[in-house]
Amino acid sequence: MKKKVAVFGCTGSIGTSTLNIIREFPDEFEVCALTAQSNKAKLEALAHEFHCRNTLLTAYAKPEQVDTLIAQSNADIAVNGVAGSAGLQFSHMILTHGIDLALANKETIVMAAPQIKKLAQEHHCALLPVDSEHSAVFSMTERFGIENIHSAILTASGGPFRTLPAEQLQTVTAADALKHPTWNMGHKITIDSATLANKGLEVIEACALFDLSPEQVQVVIHPQSLIHSFVRTKDGVLYAQLSPPDMRHPILTALTWPRMTASTLEQFDPAAGTPQDGIALTFYPPRLNDFPMLSLAYQAIRSKGSYTIAYNAANEAAALAFLAGQIRFHEIAELTETVLSSDWQQTAVTISDVLLLDKQARTQAQQFLNRR
Ligand code: NDP
Ligand code: MG
Repeated sequence: MKKKVAVFGCTGSIGTSTLNIIREFPDEFEVCALTAQSNKAKLEALAHEFHCRNTLLTAYAKPEQVDTLIAQSNADIAVNGVAGSAGLQFSHMILTHGIDLALANKETIVMAAPQIKKLAQEHHCALLPVDSEHSAVFSMTERFGIENIHSAILTASGGPFRTLPAEQLQTVTAADALKHPTWNMGHKITIDSATLANKGLEVIEACALFDLSPEQVQVVIHPQSLIHSFVRTKDGVLYAQLSPPDMRHPILTALTWPRMTASTLEQFDPAAGTPQDGIALTFYPPRLNDFPMLSLAYQAIRSKGSYTIAYNAANEAAALAFLAGQIRFHEIAELTETVLSSDWQQTAVTISDVLLLDKQARTQAQQFLNRR
């Protein structure tokens, strides 16, 4: 029996990698639902190719239509590759229908981990991280047992400005930031990679997914993006997970879980270098002062309450404003810090609470933008 896969955000970077996997393993998977925001031509072409009648352009749809699409899909698993906070609503609906969730949309966990984890438990659904670092940590915790995990180290490429002198960071443009050295991704996450907000979101995501304290989650810059994360077990041994920087690897892991499929994807070969130069893996501590979004994420976790919701909303508003040329690079962190300086002690109980707090943080972000 083929696994029926619903792909949310099928026209984006994660959606494209997911459909590549389905093309590569036609005996394992079939497409049962496809959504995009507004790219009609691409959605129709994919629907035709994958013989999928169950499709939706969500920009023009009501929530009930998304619900009907999910109900009719009969999916075994759904990949959430929607960009940004809009992904939360989709994750919520997918789990409510009792469908396993392969989650690329990290914003879902950053905003609403307790609610989403509870929902997954109540509906007996697997919550499978697709974010490469979390897929790596997940695979290792599955093997060692979560009780034997001492800590995790998330790797970061460092983005396009890894070695740029601090004074030059003042004048970088969105076009500069979109030139990512190792990963080819959507615009919002590419800006997040340049500011290290992506790693900040991922630290929040790792703490929430694996019940780790912020002290147990470290970040190291690893420009080659070959090691996707490390896990240290209680006995002090450090394990790493390696593959080429290609999201099809973690997507395949999530789609086949708990089984494993013989992969036809390109694999990392440590002996493929020359006898003189070999293949070097390097590691650097992050430049915390020049990229304040990472420390702000740790601060948000430690502050508890709803600070991580505010961090995510402020960052998203700032990243979009930077993409639109409205603010400068360093103002992304300034805006986020300003929003975080408000009182976010209140705890969100329901998803509606989360959405309300998210909205409040965005209003404050807009006020920052208006003041400029
Ligand atoms: P893209 O921008 O490439 O694609 C986003 C997809 O979501 C498109 O199909 C788009 O449709 C759709 N979409 C955009 N906005 C909305 C909305 N408001 N409501 C519904 N659908 C929407 O993003 P990525 O694929 O890069 O990222 C998707 C998610 O995966 C993000 O949360 C990101 O952080 C995460 N992720 C991505 C990685 C990557 O390698 N790209 C790696 C790890 C995590 P349309 O084309 O019609 O606009
Ligand atoms: Mg990642």
